[in-house]
Amino acid sequence: MPEVKSTCCYCGVGCGVIIETTANQSGDLVVSGVRGDPAHPANFGKLCSKGSTLHLTAQPHLQKQGRLGFPAIRQNREDDPIQVTWPEAIDTVARRFAKIIHQYGPDSVGIYVSGQLLTEDYYLFNKLMKGLIGSNNIDTNSRLCMSSAVAGYKQTLGMDAPPCSYEDIELASTIFITGSNTAFAHPILYRRLEAARQARPEMKVIVVDPRRTDTAKDADLYLQIQPGTDVALYHGMLHIMLWEKWLDESYIASFTVGFEELKNLVRDFTPKAVAKICGIEEKDLYQASQWFAQSPGTLSLYCQGLNQSASGTAKNAALINLHLATGQIGKPGAGPFSLTGQPNAMGGREVGGLANLLSAHRDLSNPVHRSEVANFWGVEQVPEKPGLTAIPMFEALRTKELKAIWIVCTNPAQSMPDLNAVHEGLKNAELVVVQEAYANTATTLYADILLPATTWAEKIGTVTNSERTISKVNPAIAPFASAKHDWQIALEIARALEQLLTNHKKDGLTTLFPYNSAEDIWNEHRATTEGRDLDITGLSYQILEDHGPQQWPMPKGAAHGKKRLYEDGIFPTKDQKAHFIATPYTATAETVDARYPFALNTGRLRDQWHGMSRTGTLGTLFAHAPEPSIEISPKDASRMLLTNGDLVHVTSRRGSEIFPVKISEDIANSQAFIAMHWGSEFISGSAGKHPSRGVNGLTCSRIDPISGQPELKHAAIKILPVNLP
Ligand code: SF4
Repeated sequence: MPEVKSTCCYCGVGCGVIIETTANQSGDLVVSGVRGDPAHPANFGKLCSKGSTLHLTAQPHLQKQGRLGFPAIRQNREDDPIQVTWPEAIDTVARRFAKIIHQYGPDSVGIYVSGQLLTEDYYLFNKLMKGLIGSNNIDTNSRLCMSSAVAGYKQTLGMDAPPCSYEDIELASTIFITGSNTAFAHPILYRRLEAARQARPEMKVIVVDPRRTDTAKDADLYLQIQPGTDVALYHGMLHIMLWEKWLDESYIASFTVGFEELKNLVRDFTPKAVAKICGIEEKDLYQASQWFAQSPGTLSLYCQGLNQSASGTAKNAALINLHLATGQIGKPGAGPFSLTGQPNAMGGREVGGLANLLSAHRDLSNPVHRSEVANFWGVEQVPEKPGLTAIPMFEALRTKELKAIWIVCTNPAQSMPDLNAVHEGLKNAELVVVQEAYANTATTLYADILLPATTWAEKIGTVTNSERTISKVNPAIAPFASAKHDWQIALEIARALEQLLTNHKKDGLTTLFPYNSAEDIWNEHRATTEGRDLDITGLSYQILEDHGPQQWPMPKGAAHGKKRLYEDGIFPTKDQKAHFIATPYTATAETVDARYPFALNTGRLRDQWHGMSRTGTLGTLFAHAPEPSIEISPKDASRMLLTNGDLVHVTSRRGSEIFPVKISEDIANSQAFIAMHWGSEFISGSAGKHPSRGVNGLTCSRIDPISGQPELKHAAIKILPVNLP
């Protein structure tokens, strides 16, 4: 039976998979197995617990139970949706959007997309909103996971591009893992790290995390910092490096600007002061600084612990400062390497699928970039006014400033912070369109119109992983029921809307959307990259099929992409230098106090994916963590007379949820941890059965002022036992 090469849809490692199929009784192909692609440069044939069970999630009986199969419309939010035809659904979405746009203007509507979308889908939605509708109100759930990394790279290095490759894990002498539980969130990369350590036992691994994660337990040096104190830590490390003369003065002088200001700033970050702020030993701070600076190659791996913060950009920049100051960049085994959470958060960045970006890493704020993109698209202009980013978008629904939202391939009614406000926003919306593969998410409950989309094993297009490698995603089976590809749905609605909104149609042009395939869209995206930092004009679908995944940039004439950026010390800034950023340390947006004395941390489980719409269908993936819990330290549990399984009210300034207690040595005193995946559940325990919305009923929606990323990693809470009857 046919086998198809594709890409895992779970995380930003972007592992290659081979999908095995078999024919059912009707002769239709069904997915029968999955194995790692030995030729894929991310995983070389390996898969983690999630990836290796992908085929089970595509079993026909699970599809029938959980998939959205047909377009449907609700007359009232309280009613069940009624199945309609595709033409009826497309026409209704276009007419209702057009009516709202005519009545209130283009900025009265928004599109909220996802890092699960393929690059082609992303490109089309972006063009639809910014080119046709004439608003920049399109943002993505990737805002919640990587926008601080984008801002950090751009501030310091001049462009949004991780400068490293996965093979740098094998080449590094010191690996500095900070704000990342790589063992759980990027398991195949962690296996590469484990293999590298076995091959070269002299390699040092430093882990910085408030929680003693599985990654931290393996470290040569573990710094259990207080939540949100990362900037103080990095400034303190730089202070020691300066004092000990461990810096690369020649690199600083030749390739950077702004060091004097940073030097003045870190003067006050003495080892004693930093040890106190971070809650660590001075000797550990010193050791980390020495290994970082004096190693032949230091690679930093970082993720949501830095990004999901109201000072996320400052954290990213302060870490990159260390690499620049020590010359640990632009050489094998060195560099600041942000790991993306979602499978195609990178692709979304490439096509400018965020409210402040435009195609091919162009900036909305740059008039030349706006004009270039308008010319590409054949529209008069791209609007100048910045669009609503994720958190303000749902807030604008709440205040009724935004009237309509089209939510694609994501579940904000579970995944956004401060869910009470998000649910209020969805209730207040005049029109909610939900384009989804799954029927029963927290968000589909609010949908006026439901549009069924294809998903993994059915889709075609491309994704880009954390190391800038573009891989093909290929279909192995036919779409479920009458589901369509995301780009097809967007295309049909775009063309219908185009008939109703003529203000951006260029004279003589029949359509702004002249595509017949995903490849047509990708080719247009490719053309927009010419001469840009991510130039992929040397790449094609055919090359990806024939020669496998390729890294960008890969301009015309290049035989392959670039493994490492900035090897020549030239940066894509105006002065061609890297920029040190001197940002003072600030505490978390919400501080603990007498009323809310616990610092709540959030994160991933090993075997679950986001809101569990896919992984939650497999019993085998619950063996590792069968139910929601709040983890607290033995000392706190003892103080509150709590034992494992006791139910507690967990309350923040935004809401209250019930969780069973799990006592864990991995949690520091006065801290707590709840995994991000659990959504609407009934929590059972000795004190009965209680509904819960999961951790985002508690989390904080304060955002980083530069990146717009919310502080999902920290909230102040109190914990009180549920009274027994
Ligand atoms: Fe899929 Fe990520 Fe696991 Fe690779 S590491 S198999 S991409 S979930």
